[in-house]
Amino acid sequence: MNPSLVIIGAGMAGLSAGIFARMNGFQTEIVEMHGIPGGMCTAWKRKGYTFDLCIQCLSGSKPGTDLHRLYEAIGLLDNTTFVSSEYWKHVRDAEGNELTLYNNPDRLEEELIRFSPEDTPFIHRLCRDIRRLQSLETPIERSILETIRLLPLMKVMNRYKQPPDRSLAEIKNPVLRRLLVAGLDWDGQSATFPMMGLAWQGSGNGGYPLGGSVPLAKSLEKRFLDLGGSIRYGTKVKKIIVEGGKASGVILSDDSVLHADAVISCADGRTTIFEMLEGKFCNDHIMGNYRDLTPFPPLLFFSLGINADLSGLPDVLTYVPEDPVEIGGTEHPYFNFYNFAKDPGLYPAGKGVITVWVPVSWEHWQQFPYQGEEYRHEKEKAAGQIIELFGRLYPHLADAVEVYDVASPMTFSRYTGTWNGAYEGWRVTPDAFFISLPNTLPGLSRFAMAGQWVVTGGGISGAVISARKAVQQICRDFNQPFQDGT
Ligand SMILES: Cc1cc2nc3c(=O)[nH]c(=O)nc-3n(C[C@H](O)[C@H](O)[C@H](O)COP(=O)(O)OP(=O)(O)OC[C@H]3O[C@@H](n4cnc5c(N)ncnc54)[C@H](O)[C@@H]3O)c2cc1C
Repeated sequence: MNPSLVIIGAGMAGLSAGIFARMNGFQTEIVEMHGIPGGMCTAWKRKGYTFDLCIQCLSGSKPGTDLHRLYEAIGLLDNTTFVSSEYWKHVRDAEGNELTLYNNPDRLEEELIRFSPEDTPFIHRLCRDIRRLQSLETPIERSILETIRLLPLMKVMNRYKQPPDRSLAEIKNPVLRRLLVAGLDWDGQSATFPMMGLAWQGSGNGGYPLGGSVPLAKSLEKRFLDLGGSIRYGTKVKKIIVEGGKASGVILSDDSVLHADAVISCADGRTTIFEMLEGKFCNDHIMGNYRDLTPFPPLLFFSLGINADLSGLPDVLTYVPEDPVEIGGTEHPYFNFYNFAKDPGLYPAGKGVITVWVPVSWEHWQQFPYQGEEYRHEKEKAAGQIIELFGRLYPHLADAVEVYDVASPMTFSRYTGTWNGAYEGWRVTPDAFFISLPNTLPGLSRFAMAGQWVVTGGGISGAVISARKAVQQICRDFNQPFQDGT
């Protein structure tokens, strides 16, 4: 009989791991604590509006790339149509200065020079580097050949290793510097990371999938079930069972036991290592990662249902107020307004959806008992501030917000188990610049981890690639060849 495998979590990593496992003959069951697939790749409905949490762009959307081939092999892109925007962000400040960060490096160059001719040499170099980044493909495997292929681009990537305020410090024109820093800032990560996103969008490799996150998760769920896998929803894993140094099943929250020949955890990394496995399989390197790396922050995620046609508004507007604005216990130097006009399936005809995500502190939100009066009051207050900002940007739409919704750090933690509400795993910082994280634990075999806690930068691509790697590892444990369907 083929060996059995339990996978913890039906997020994008867990579902992908399930598909790879079935391709390689494992009897596979996924255990998911929520009632639906997708994890962070999710959306919810309010009065005819669909509020999508996850997707703005999918790296690997370009046909012919290795990642696209892998997505096709697991059925991620079944019936998916991608659309693209002309620009990464449109940035506006309180004084009315406006800058469009075009995805096309030639147009971007023109726009930046128009804004600040005195910065022409810097702009030339920046846009040349973005052109180079367009050729960068996310490697599926970290082989020596891949490393050699990446070498010429490493110099470019390293040049913008610091966050935008430091990587772009040479820009002379203070207004250009402020707007560009705001447009490229991504929670304090290395500037290379958003520049790669911009470059990929420009080369057709960072499209937006019409329909948003849910169809992607549903496609993976369907492929997994079609391949003969099973999913147990509404069931939380408490512990991973270890016998003789081998993972051999899981204990569920009702204390029942699910035996298996191997386990893959796609749940939160800290919970997996320090709670499900009680920290018994750890070394200094792993402890160091959990001590020193910086996770993505928790968010207040605002969704606005607007009773007006938004097709004339920018796809993404970064607004830089005169002074930072305090919302949800944190000061914010700028706000990103994401407009979903490009995806008419998400809202009733003639209307529109805007989402805004602002990073906040877990400690601040911990003060308020979940769903208590103070908690609700804080959320209402924050929503009022965002609606006020929206009205300030678009005075003619100030009264058009007919539905709103706020997800707090606790919402993220409750529905996906993510540590302290982090909205993805580890940030790409100068100290953790595309580093490789272990997906196995010392002293434990027939076990692997996948998902956003074993890659830096998170994302669906990281979830899929790490899932492939985890199943490859399990195949190795059983002395079995591995195939990924490509
Ligand atoms: C606001 C936002 C915008 C984003 N934008 C993009 C984007 O444009 N492009 C992109 O590629 N990515 C984007 N991402 C990131 C992407 O959604 C995630 O990185 C990816 O979906 C993570 O998948 P995962 O499977 O690793 O983790 P998760 O989605 O967190 O899945 C983990 C799963 O495990 C389950 N689980 C946890 N603990 C247990 C347990 N004890 N027992 C049983 N089940 C358990 C959870 O319920 C969950 O379903 C965005 C994310 C957010 C929040």
